[in-house]
Amino acid sequence: SEIIAKYQIMERVGSGAYADVYRARRLSDGLTVALKEIHDYQSAFREIDALQILQASPNVVVLHEYFWRDDEDAVLVLEFLPTDLATVISHAAKSDQPLPVPDIKRWILQILSAVDSCHRLNVLHRDLKPSNLLISENGTLKLADFGQTRILIDDSPENACDNHEEHYENTDLHDGNAICTTSDIDNDPLRDEEDKELGCFTSCVGTRWFRAPELLYGSRDYGLEIDLWSLGCIFAELLTLRPLFPGTSDIDQLSRIISVLGNLDEDAWPGCSKLPDYGIISFSKVENPVSLEVCLPNRSPDEVSLVKRLVCYDPAKRASVMELLTDKYFSEEPLPVPVSELRFPL
Ligand code: ADP
Repeated sequence: SEIIAKYQIMERVGSGAYADVYRARRLSDGLTVALKEIHDYQSAFREIDALQILQASPNVVVLHEYFWRDDEDAVLVLEFLPTDLATVISHAAKSDQPLPVPDIKRWILQILSAVDSCHRLNVLHRDLKPSNLLISENGTLKLADFGQTRILIDDSPENACDNHEEHYENTDLHDGNAICTTSDIDNDPLRDEEDKELGCFTSCVGTRWFRAPELLYGSRDYGLEIDLWSLGCIFAELLTLRPLFPGTSDIDQLSRIISVLGNLDEDAWPGCSKLPDYGIISFSKVENPVSLEVCLPNRSPDEVSLVKRLVCYDPAKRASVMELLTDKYFSEEPLPVPVSELRFPL
């Protein structure tokens, strides 16, 4: 096929539930690329769609081109990125060396820039975690793996003629249930359960450790805030080199969150008792929650506050990416290192 004629496969570098990733060489000029073969129509469609929307973003993986093979499989030709933030964290943890604060600040700024690009365009990533934050040889961090992405529809009048108009039609944003439909997908018999059955989102998204409490309680009308929770968990992990909430099951995940933040109740998040599974999953009263300070020992008040602004129950209280980007943490000494001075193993 066309792809065989243009690329030479070198080795397999990763595989996931629906995808295999290979390092390959572009025959025309010898450029190293990653070929991501996606075996699931829905995730392939989502990933291509999101990457096309986000191509102007400096902290999103570059999509050179893609091929559909029959109607099920797609092969994406992506820029090749040799490492990721999970590797940086585990390497530092193994050598028992905390990451330098100026490096932490630069990693966080790059992550915020990536998520800012998504959220400005109403792209909800839904699977933010260190292993999806890839890193180039020169230290540029690039968000990858858009297989779980959803695009939220903003039906305010100034967005009425944005460039996704031909792809997306609005449904009523205010019925508390339907958030969006993608007309392409809706007309397709292969589209997944979540739109078809419910007219809304599934709560089974993301990797458990980074999953927001509203998802764990079965919410289907969540928004960008689920990515903000994941960001808080990632920042905590950069600061301590250990996952913040390494749950072993969904219940254990919630129970770990509750042991730190206290029980989820109407005081913590007005409206939470309406979550689909709120009455089904109940926990005995946690008298003395651990608090995030204790989870982040020896970290500065600014760092603890950064995590606290994201890891909080009420989605409406989570700080937006824009607010975080202008936080004084990044303009105070020690200043973030330039990208080219980040140190990490290759
Ligand atoms: P999945 O949706 O199956 O999780 P990912 O996009 O996360 O797929 O890719 C799986 C693995 O392949 C990643 O953990 C990473 O090791 C590798 N990988 C993905 N994209 C690239 C890339 N652009 N460059 C190098 N390796 C990549």
